[in-house]
This record gives sequence, structure tokens and C-alpha cells, in this order.
Amino acid sequence: MQRINNENEMLELGAELAKKVVLGSVVFLHGELGAGKTTLVRGFLQALGHDGKVKSPTYTLVENYTLDNKTVFHFDLYRLHDPEELEFIGFRDYFSKDAICLVEWPERAGSLLPKADLLINIEVDGDARNVYFEK
Ligand code: ADP
Ligand code: MG
Repeated sequence: MQRINNENEMLELGAELAKKVVLGSVVFLHGELGAGKTTLVRGFLQALGHDGKVKSPTYTLVENYTLDNKTVFHFDLYRLHDPEELEFIGFRDYFSKDAICLVEWPERAGSLLPKADLLINIEVDGDARNVYFEK
């Protein structure tokens, strides 16, 4: 477990992960709305050179980034109503050896998604967060 005391520390955690997570990895991000999943993703992307905002792909389901010669797909499946919608966007092509997939609300996809290489669970504790990792 890692204790995260503020937004900045969550950005730093994302940046640390960006150094460790290798191409082809699938990372699941669990935690309630406002837990800090997108904040962690922002730290991750910014560490790879992305500047500016990270928009939550709530309606499009996925946002693409090419950074530092790496392709990163950021999924937000919060509004996924039917796992079939994932079929419509051809999601299988996104989960390849040549990309990193960061997935918010993976539980919305039922059993469609491939297995995660890293599972992150963010628990809200007042202004702080307890972050749990599972491989
Ligand atoms: P999620 O994607 O899980 O719904 P966001 O990252 O979009 O969450 O939002 C998290 C919100 O919580 C942001 O407004 C952020 O500023 C705030 N926040 C407060 N404390 C923390 C913390 N310790 N870690 C991460 N975010 C925090
Ligand atoms: Mg989010």
C-alpha cells in the first residue's frame, strides 16, 4: 500500500509508473468517482512528455497518445452500458504488444478485457488516498 497525501503526490506516482510500465502492459485503475484515477493517468502521460490536459474519454471510451515513441491508450469505461459497445470500437486492436493500456472502470466491461498486468486500487481516505497494487 502507498499513502498519497495530495494531488501532487498522485501525479508523482503516475510519473513513477510511467518509468516502470513496459510496452504491451495493461493497467486497471479501480476506485470510486473522484478517487484520482485520471490524476494518476495525467502524471503518467506528462512524465512521457504530454503537456496540457488529459480529457476523460467518458463518451469516446478511449483517448490515444503517442509519446516518447510509446503508444498509450487511456480508457474510461464509466459510461459503458453494454460491453458490446467495446466491440463496436474494435477494442481488441488496442490491447496489443505495441501499446500501454490504462483502463478506468474496467469492471464495466465484464469479462471482455484481457487480464491486467497491474491492478491499482485507489481508496479515498479524506484528502488522502491509499493506493493498493496487485500484479
Ligand atoms: P477519478 O478519475 O478517479 O474519477 P480524478 O482524478 O478525475 O478522479 O479526480 C480526483 C480529484 O480529487 C481531483 O479533483 C483532485 O484534485 C482531487 N484530489 C484531492 N486529493 C487527492 C489525492 N490525494 N490524490 C488524488 N486526487 C486528489
Ligand atoms: Mg476519471
